[in-house]
Amino acid sequence: IYLLCRNFPCRQLSHLVHISSPCFTGANGIRLTMESALTARDRVGVQDFVLLENFTSEAAFIENLRKRFKENLIYTYIGSVLVSVNPYKELEIYSKQNMERYRGVSFYEVSPHLYAIADNSYRSLRTERKDQCILISGESGAGKTEATKKILQYYAVTCPASQQVETVKDRLLQSNPVLEAFGNAKTLRNDNSSRFGKYMDVQFDYRGAPVGGHILNYLLEKSRVVHQNHGERNFHIFYQLLEGGEEDLLRRLGLEKNPQQYHYLCCSVIAPIYSHSINDKNDWKIVRRALSVISFKDNEVEDLLSIVASVLHLGNVQFAADEQGNAQVTTENQIKYLARLLAVEGSVLRDALIHKKIIAKGEELISPLNLEQAAYARDALAKAIYGRTFSWLVNKVNKSLAYEFPGWRSTTVLGLLDIYGFEVFQHNSFEQFCINYCNEKLQQLFIELTLKSEQEEYEAEGIAWEPVQYFNNKIICDLVEEKFKGIISILDEECLRPGDATDTTFLEKLEETVKNHPHFLTHKLADQKTRKSLGREEFRLLHYAGEVTYSVAGFLDKNNDLLFRNLKETMCNSENPIINQCFDRTELTDKKRPETAATQFKNSLSKLMEILMSKEPSYIRCIKPNDAKQADRFDEVLIRHQVKYLGLMENLRVRRAGFAYRRKYEVFLQRYKSLCPETWPTWDGRPHDGVAVLVKHLGYKQEEYKMGRTKIFIRFPKTLFATEDALEV
Ligand code: ATP
Ligand code: MG
Repeated sequence: IYLLCRNFPCRQLSHLVHISSPCFTGANGIRLTMESALTARDRVGVQDFVLLENFTSEAAFIENLRKRFKENLIYTYIGSVLVSVNPYKELEIYSKQNMERYRGVSFYEVSPHLYAIADNSYRSLRTERKDQCILISGESGAGKTEATKKILQYYAVTCPASQQVETVKDRLLQSNPVLEAFGNAKTLRNDNSSRFGKYMDVQFDYRGAPVGGHILNYLLEKSRVVHQNHGERNFHIFYQLLEGGEEDLLRRLGLEKNPQQYHYLCCSVIAPIYSHSINDKNDWKIVRRALSVISFKDNEVEDLLSIVASVLHLGNVQFAADEQGNAQVTTENQIKYLARLLAVEGSVLRDALIHKKIIAKGEELISPLNLEQAAYARDALAKAIYGRTFSWLVNKVNKSLAYEFPGWRSTTVLGLLDIYGFEVFQHNSFEQFCINYCNEKLQQLFIELTLKSEQEEYEAEGIAWEPVQYFNNKIICDLVEEKFKGIISILDEECLRPGDATDTTFLEKLEETVKNHPHFLTHKLADQKTRKSLGREEFRLLHYAGEVTYSVAGFLDKNNDLLFRNLKETMCNSENPIINQCFDRTELTDKKRPETAATQFKNSLSKLMEILMSKEPSYIRCIKPNDAKQADRFDEVLIRHQVKYLGLMENLRVRRAGFAYRRKYEVFLQRYKSLCPETWPTWDGRPHDGVAVLVKHLGYKQEEYKMGRTKIFIRFPKTLFATEDALEV
């Protein structure tokens, strides 16, 4: 193997060799000689950042990532956290054969991989019967959804099978293309960007076979239905239907093949609608097949597609002003189609689009809308229809994944969270505010749970806990979510205030209420120097990951998420069964105002935190290597940014605060027993005592290590490397 390594070109060598922390082994378990192992360590970096000598240096961190990326080693650990860099090319590391390599094997015996995380969680679930969750984060295009899919595939291949289980596996896998068709879109950052957050539970039975699942969805970006930025597209399903839909179907839906006919798809027409990575025609077939796997009947598919088509027709509804300046519908043809597809009365819908109905003191007041208001109402209806249909779809998927509890058999659950990472754009609005708030909550959970698990391990091993200094971001979470004086409360208050509330009055209220907060700033509150960088319609939050400036424009409107009453009524009367389920009559009679978008999001996040708290977490942190979506390009500036926003340095610091390395006595002894005459070739006593003799012989200093109940803890990587190197001599 030594000769092989010397003569192999670097790239192939890296396939052949993986460096297991801390030992250097070939892929087949054969140890390398010192020279080649050290050369490999230099070239491919360490596989666990915890082993970096200079662990506080961001430069060293990025250098390690770069070395590994160059060798196609896209995975690296920080302790048990997996850092993944999107390769933007197909690597041959996801084969069934490779899956087998990770099955039932300890972390440190194989090179870092998603499968190691997946397998480790699965094993804890089976042996300890404790619910697990895998939290996947990273910015758009970093590879979260791909990671989720690969983990699901891993379970589909490696978990026990039976006829019934095969159906569940199929449904779990097939729910993806359906939800992606309706919830993903091409953006500038990612050709298949998830525009919603997703948490998926997989239930396992007593044999460890997947028997059911459940999905929770978060904050679909509904605004995309009616508007897309230059170079971006609407949700995939629209193009798939037009491109792949059979002639007969399109005729029934009143659709023409050409997307340019549709106002809601127009923006993307200026830029290329089709990119080489997207094949709508083929995806259509995949989605159609997937729909039947998740038990959609033909008539349900037709109802669903009628809704998709109705959104396109709605976008083409045009208005003209009459003499009084009131809006009138000028596109009768569209109303005809809409009436049919949504199964509503055409004249009622037409009227509802150009009038506003308010109930005041029990009396109905109907007033005409002007052009701008009518266009607003139309778009609001399109967003509501699409958004609610998406939630309906998730529900439908859940029904097909539901596990019929046989009562006495308990199940364990493994959750996968694929949710938007921190977002900082040139222009940040309500959506970024919600997304970044979500990331604050996840960071809080991460810190709490990481520290907790570190502390628990120390306690279990009987080693004194050394408190770790870290930034607790609770102060920012409170700033956003606190009752009465949090940003969401103030926003809701403005949304509910009758009369003259605007985005500006919201900002003024904020300034009054949260002035002097160390994490909050506006133009008015800033000092002379900082003021220049803040507009008058903006506020800035100092997030755990850095500052973000939000423009308040549209905050009230997006938070209110208003749909005029008469449009709601019309939809409640729809005979399209899906629309009928989406719009519930109780909404009309309910005196209580519906929850605002931010409050709904806050509540669903709080439920999510409860779910995650009750499980044992694993983490995957995804990094996007460049903005060009290209292979083999490592853009250091971009990566540094993500290392910061993902909180990786802080993560490493917490993990390294105590001991860099810990291992069970048996494993440690087995590996290093040859270094001491008393433990070689066998040690007959307790492994603990053998290790004590061994490290004494090796001359470990007192401050370099601690002996726990079942494990040895080593403080510095250099101690370990020296021992490792001694093996090779
Ligand atoms: P978003 O937040 O926009 O949904 P994301 O983090 O979910 O982004 P993905 O859709 O998973 O990003 O990945 C973007 C693209 O990167 C994929 O479509 C795929 O082309 C490529 N990619 C991601 N991970 C891998 C991988 N492990 N191997 C090969 N290509 C990958
Ligand atoms: Mg995604």
